[in-house]
Amino acid sequence: MKFFIKTFGCIQNTADSERIKAFYWNKGYKEVDNWREADLVVINTCIIRESAENRVYGLINEIDKWNRNPPALRAPSLDKEGLKKISIVVTGCLAGLANKDKTGKKLAQLKRDFPEVSEFLPIEKISYKIDPIRDKKDLALIPISFGCSNFCSYCIVPFARGPEISRPMEEILKEIDVVIKNGFKEVLLIGQNVNSYLNPKPLFNSPLDERENTNYVVHMGKKRLHSSFHILLEEVAKKDLQKISFVSSNPWDFSDELIATIAKYPNIDRLLHLPFQAGDDEVLKKMNRGYTQKEYLDLVKKIRSQISDVRFSTDIIIGFPGEDEKAFQNTVKLCKKAKFEIAYLNKYSPRKGTVSAKLYKDEIPQSEKKRRWNVLNDLINKK
Ligand code: SF4
Repeated sequence: MKFFIKTFGCIQNTADSERIKAFYWNKGYKEVDNWREADLVVINTCIIRESAENRVYGLINEIDKWNRNPPALRAPSLDKEGLKKISIVVTGCLAGLANKDKTGKKLAQLKRDFPEVSEFLPIEKISYKIDPIRDKKDLALIPISFGCSNFCSYCIVPFARGPEISRPMEEILKEIDVVIKNGFKEVLLIGQNVNSYLNPKPLFNSPLDERENTNYVVHMGKKRLHSSFHILLEEVAKKDLQKISFVSSNPWDFSDELIATIAKYPNIDRLLHLPFQAGDDEVLKKMNRGYTQKEYLDLVKKIRSQISDVRFSTDIIIGFPGEDEKAFQNTVKLCKKAKFEIAYLNKYSPRKGTVSAKLYKDEIPQSEKKRRWNVLNDLINKK
């Protein structure tokens, strides 16, 4: 039996796909490079934007068409393989969103809309204890937490992936020891909100947990559990690795201990990804990001004062409802002050099921979003 995997979306999905591959290899499947040669196509989905979701539906329809296409019409070289009907399994955020709906309506609707899909498999069904089949030969992707509990108003992730759950620290460190033994020199720690990582309770007896502090802290107006990410990062940095990066971190969980840990270990990447999304306080409030422009810039200043060679990348949403010219200029102002090396620019589009889609009208014309996109792109990415 042969399988093909198609991965859409973010680095978290790329890391998940490495485990999904191992899951099917362990069941006796062999991976192929062309879905037309497969018995099974696994689609690891992203639904962060409607366009990404539509690409998933497009692929399902294409496979369905292939399955219905009389074999005689297929290319002669593929006739033999083409006679087989290809099964489709959908996993990732689309399957997550449907399976997490307690009414069962979303899953029932998907099954009605796509009867050709044999399973909508929640990613949690694939254990993180499985040894992944790594695509990259130099950089090991290490998931440290799953889901997100932040509920930024525009984002579907908390609904699709559920609340944030961290992997046990010992399990993560063991996985890193294995990749080092296999010759990897770089690791990327992955989570939707890596810097709120919290070593889960069952391991509280281990020596690592003695240093754990689960008190609440208030940072940037948010009451947060005191994360143990800096402890994990330090343990990783002590290992024989040339570079340790992490993504994505959020401003409200960027603690002083984390800054001190990065400063202490030169093998921790100096390019920090710190999404700010918008530079206007009113827009930030509507996004439920919690911080103000000043708080974000103060954080950048504090990090720079302690890590002299630090550089920053960021994510920006352009044209969020309520972003008038004055609000946009606040974003420009923030960018000029923060001096980002790279910015990932996304034009706002409402995502069904999110708070912002329910509450706010997508009022800014596409042409204006494009203009603002060009302004920021010229300012940051083209310099
Ligand atoms: S931090 Fe906000 S934007 Fe990032 S995944 Fe969580 S809810 Fe979405």
